[in-house]
Amino acid sequence: MAARVFPPKKLLKSFGNCYFFSRPFNSSSSSPSSSSISINHSTEKLESIIQNQPPPTNTDTSLNLHDVEKLFSSVPTTKLLRASANLHFAAMESMVDFGMWVMKSKLMDIEVFRDIVLGVVKHTFYEHFCGGEDALATGDTVRRLHRGGDGLRVMLDYSVECVSDNQSCDRNLEAFLHTVEIAKSLPPSSVSFVIVKISAICPMNLLGRVSDLLRWQHKNPSFNLPWKLDTLPILSSISPTYHTLHRPEPLTLDEEHDLQLAHQRLLKICQKCLEANVPLTIDAEHTPVQPAIDYFTYSSAIMYNRDDNIIMYGTIQAYLKDAKERLLLVTKAVEKMGVPMGFKLVRGAYMSYERKLASSLGFESPIHNSIQETHACYNDCASFMLDKIAKGPGALVLATHNVESGEKAVAKAHDLGVKKVNQKLEFAQLYGMSEALSFGLRNAGFQVSKYMPFGSMEIVIPYLLRRAEENRGPLSALTLDRQLIRKELKRRLRATVF
Ligand SMILES: Cc1cc2nc3c(=O)[nH]c(=O)nc-3n(C[C@H](O)[C@H](O)[C@H](O)COP(=O)(O)OP(=O)(O)OC[C@H]3O[C@@H](n4cnc5c(N)ncnc54)[C@H](O)[C@@H]3O)c2cc1C
Repeated sequence: MAARVFPPKKLLKSFGNCYFFSRPFNSSSSSPSSSSISINHSTEKLESIIQNQPPPTNTDTSLNLHDVEKLFSSVPTTKLLRASANLHFAAMESMVDFGMWVMKSKLMDIEVFRDIVLGVVKHTFYEHFCGGEDALATGDTVRRLHRGGDGLRVMLDYSVECVSDNQSCDRNLEAFLHTVEIAKSLPPSSVSFVIVKISAICPMNLLGRVSDLLRWQHKNPSFNLPWKLDTLPILSSISPTYHTLHRPEPLTLDEEHDLQLAHQRLLKICQKCLEANVPLTIDAEHTPVQPAIDYFTYSSAIMYNRDDNIIMYGTIQAYLKDAKERLLLVTKAVEKMGVPMGFKLVRGAYMSYERKLASSLGFESPIHNSIQETHACYNDCASFMLDKIAKGPGALVLATHNVESGEKAVAKAHDLGVKKVNQKLEFAQLYGMSEALSFGLRNAGFQVSKYMPFGSMEIVIPYLLRRAEENRGPLSALTLDRQLIRKELKRRLRATVF
């Protein structure tokens, strides 16, 4: 298929502010001290996995990434070869720099040149990291992943940017509703979730205004917000409030109207998900707007989540210092109200933005001071939630590429008897990343999803650039995959020759 042509100005626009707020699934710039500690730790881990010997305690129900033959048994050699080549190029820093320079250069104004570049990107990184350009192509990818022996499920993510007006929000609403329809038309249980970004259905500046007002009310409980619906705790005693230093003006009538429209959009998506029997997960974004995102999530969860049917899942970012405290407050509140809640647990992807913002305002960063603290917080929240879902209502998606977090969660889930049949626990990795971990978790008997963005090249290219940037260096989540895939390819070659 020919590469879709789009105006270069539009492409360049997507490299602007909005993208860095809406799409950076990982922040590659960590502090030098934290990353050096982390490199030593992770290198040891990778080496031990790539060594031939399985761990002595290995059982069928533990996470085993040592047996590459078993891990990749469902993957044909041609697919492994392609993945190996894509991951190799994605990890070459000079290649990534060159690619990013080309994409942003004036050369993209030349139609023939642009078509060639986009054609190459489409048949390499785009196909590796994205489900397809439209519903039909994405549906085929989902079917292949689910039925083709991989047994993996998909979190369908229509990749849209954050928006600033109601018209764009309405357009995005239609796209999200269509995504739910695609999910419904696919084989049962092949789509685990539909993903929605609130900044795609509510104008960004309104999210900021509502967050300001919620923060102000948190500091001054008597401050009245007449539009506020029933919700769950959004901020804790240690949540950052430096974004709102002065009493914000109340919402204007127009803003209240826009807020209502945004809320109706979300409720329409919830209703469609309920009818299609596919849950919805709301992505977490950055702290200036996250209180409003949680407000939307929790107020809709109260309306839609029922005993054994959790339609609405929120996202907790463990790299935030207040993550555990907020999680405790929300779980306590839902227990009291008798509303089950689902959570996707991630480390968080806006680290450098958050650190820069806090420092520019003269405040302490809301992100944990070291990566070890983030790891500890992630594992602690995961363990806390596993205990909760083992005993009572609620559900958990452990979205991570981190092998240690995977191992810890597998061991605990196994001890608690939380398995595939419970339907309460899902592991998730980004599509095209951490295949070994996904297969290992699947082999250990868990439900595993791939978070799959889809949409036209125009929409998805910023996402691809982030993937490329994120996967630089020896610590990237792709390192382990590349090594294990190569090991399996060598094994297959030897088996064919001898
Ligand atoms: C299925 C799925 C859904 C996701 N949804 C969201 C979402 O809704 N919102 C969102 O923000 N992100 C989301 N992410 C991205 C996620 O937050 C992470 O950026 C990404 O997964 C890397 O974290 P990891 O758990 O895989 O761990 P690792 O592979 O171990 O990566 C750890 C990374 O954490 C960073 N880090 C965190 N805290 C610190 C610190 N204190 N000091 C230094 N470095 C630190 C570093 O950049 C490091 O590379 C999602 C990821 C997946 C797989």
